[in-house]
Amino acid sequence: MVYTEKSQPAPDCLELEKAKVNGDYKCANVLERIKNDFKNKCYICEYKEPIAINVEHFRPHEGDNDLKFDWNNLFWACSHCNNTKLASYQNILNCTDSSHDVEKKLKYIFKPFPFETVQIIELDNSPETLMTKNLLTAVYNGTTKLKTIESANLRNKLLEEIMDFQRLLCEYFRDTNSQEDKEYFLIKIRGHIHRGSNFTAFKRWIILENGKLKDEFGIYFD
Ligand SMILES: [Zn+2]
Repeated sequence: MVYTEKSQPAPDCLELEKAKVNGDYKCANVLERIKNDFKNKCYICEYKEPIAINVEHFRPHEGDNDLKFDWNNLFWACSHCNNTKLASYQNILNCTDSSHDVEKKLKYIFKPFPFETVQIIELDNSPETLMTKNLLTAVYNGTTKLKTIESANLRNKLLEEIMDFQRLLCEYFRDTNSQEDKEYFLIKIRGHIHRGSNFTAFKRWIILENGKLKDEFGIYFD
């Protein structure tokens, strides 16, 4: 989970839909703006360009029309995460609220080998941090039998992405590199640690946990 800035003000269609008897909060401008704000990534698992997408209500809206049409309550989530969260993880950190500082509250660990599981470590003990840790652990490692298969598929995508990132980090430091080679690898590495990339939090923690990598690439965290 990384910080995501929600663009303001709310799309016009939201107010118009709210006034209707059977208004739809998923109006065209809402979809376009959320997709853009969240860089087309699920805000929970950070999988980019998910095939099955939900416009999620960060706080449940049942019986509350204001929450249902509140722009700040609408998030971009994949079905796997949305369904996992529905069950029992409501009070989590809000990645669109800069005061929640989501990137400093949890550490993300995934070793790049087959059959590894994801480890999420809390860096403070607030109820929101702990619940987010539990949600992320469930999302990446699975809950029910079916969700465990979905999570394994998700981790396979994560594995590919981390291996690609790892290869670029190694290539960058080769002593046979020309200045041009180095610049090429740097552009690729910066793409990986950009908040719009796939699984950014995992990649940023690889950088943060290594002094040399942190000196070299820490300045490119946006
Ligand atoms: Zn997801």
